Amino acid sequence: MACPICHADMDPKYRPFCSKRCADVDLARWLSGSYAVPSEEPLEEGDFPAPPDTDQTH
Ligand SMILES: [Zn+2]
Repeated sequence: MACPICHADMDPKYRPFCSKRCADVDLARWLSGSYAVPSEEPLEEGDFPAPPDTDQTH
């Protein structure tokens, strides 16, 4: 099994990470992710705005 952050070999001491640094990175990601969950603007997957019309020839 490899570290999910940097894919280096896992250290049993910090599993599933390879180091405290990666464990901290994961924690920071988890925290920022939970804080960043948009409650008012849900993502609409696959509903991208149409690209601007670049056809200038008419
Ligand atoms: Zn790592």
